[in-house]
Amino acid sequence: MEDIKNLNKKLKILKKEIKDFQKKCPHQTKSIKVIETGTPRIVCDVCEALLGWPTKKELDSWLNR
Ligand SMILES: [Zn+2]
Repeated sequence: MEDIKNLNKKLKILKKEIKDFQKKCPHQTKSIKVIETGTPRIVCDVCEALLGWPTKKELDSWLNR
């Protein structure tokens, strides 16, 4: 088993990598996804960045898929 310090260090590096990735991503394809808190949000399909809240119209068509 790995040392927790080591794991946290890796996590920190990964988080930074994800952030950098999301910064470079043009967020061209988005969809509505339910995130951890159970609320639907607009999420980038490529980098999974949270891009905001869906409008009522978007939400309705998403619910009626
Ligand atoms: Zn993106």
